[in-house]
Amino acid sequence: QANPDTTFIVNADDPLVSSVTYNLPTSALYFGIDHKGEEIFSGIADIKSCPFCDETLIYSRRYMGHQGIFECPACGFKRKEPDIVAYDINSGIDSSSFDISFKGKRFHIEVRLPGIYNVYNVLSALLACYSMGIPIETSIENLAGIRTAFGRGERFNLGGKSIYMLLAKNPASFNEIIQLLYDKNGITVVLIINDNIQDGTDVSWLWDVNFEILMERSSLIVTSGKRAYDMALRLKYGGFDTSRLLVEEDSLKALNLAIENSDKDEIYIIPTYTAMLELRKKLESLGITKGFWED
Ligand SMILES: [Zn+2]
Repeated sequence: QANPDTTFIVNADDPLVSSVTYNLPTSALYFGIDHKGEEIFSGIADIKSCPFCDETLIYSRRYMGHQGIFECPACGFKRKEPDIVAYDINSGIDSSSFDISFKGKRFHIEVRLPGIYNVYNVLSALLACYSMGIPIETSIENLAGIRTAFGRGERFNLGGKSIYMLLAKNPASFNEIIQLLYDKNGITVVLIINDNIQDGTDVSWLWDVNFEILMERSSLIVTSGKRAYDMALRLKYGGFDTSRLLVEEDSLKALNLAIENSDKDEIYIIPTYTAMLELRKKLESLGITKGFWED
């Protein structure tokens, strides 16, 4: 039973989240995406069936994981019409631009945040601010000052290369990161996989990630971290040419290997959570601290 003064800010595209407030006579504001771009791959779904009747959900669009425009063919549960909608999304490796429509008005938004998941984050933040009385125009102005947190699409220079750090916390976010690299070619990638508690101790999820997309776009992959060899094995079984695969458990050495062996100006590091923290510490001890991060 929700307090009548409570307003829920709900992802309309997420059937699991949306089901919580779907039938409640409570105040809720919904956000969602109406994106007509190419669907690259559907990714991992946390749920496949209707939370009310267990029938398999049908999607007319699927944006990431189980989020999209869904409908249950049995009980009628479906994606609510969002109060705020994002469309015409262009999301790159370190920024995104899109339009939103809210209360009949259209706004253009540019943020220094990568990925469709950050479009969702922006929409939820805008609705949260609106529900607290902040005009949407004011919130949009303030979006311009937002930067990614360390490791989440951050960029720095090392060894004459532009290095991007793209945190991947689970198979779904791994697939989202890979999707960001979809239009790249011949890239150098460092995959740093740890299996500490915060990363998840069972690394069998590596087999659920769509690394095939990444392999097709990579000329060199260095695997690293406590599970460097599990990662390398996954790539080998996926058909990646092992002459373009290097394994180095130490993440800083792995990054150096990538810098030395890459013929590209850009290097993409995709670490799990504790791997990101470890590498950050090592970089800081080298003096590559926050002050050196590019704005
Ligand atoms: Zn249903």
